[in-house]
Amino acid sequence: MPIPKTVLIAGMTFEIIEEETRSMVETGAIGEFHRETQKIYLKPDLSPGLKRSTLIHEILHAIFYTFGVQLTHAEEERCVAGLESVVFRWLQDNKIGWVREAE
Ligand SMILES: [Zn+2]
Repeated sequence: MPIPKTVLIAGMTFEIIEEETRSMVETGAIGEFHRETQKIYLKPDLSPGLKRSTLIHEILHAIFYTFGVQLTHAEEERCVAGLESVVFRWLQDNKIGWVREAE
């Protein structure tokens, strides 16, 4: 199953784009969430597993944004990074959707 083109979070559609933005090139980031446009960018040449895990990471940022979780940038990054591996593994272990392709 390929990476989805969109995800729904709290009834809002977020577009997933496999492109590297200018700021990703500058910072070395492999994913980005743009809250203003509800877009998630993924570096296109990632391995399938890393791409899916990075998408989970960016979806978690979108969830935090959607539900109004207010943390400092550093706090949010720590939470999201910790949750990324736990949620990714849970989705894989339970064979949920596009995540299982990374096995
Ligand atoms: Zn992050």
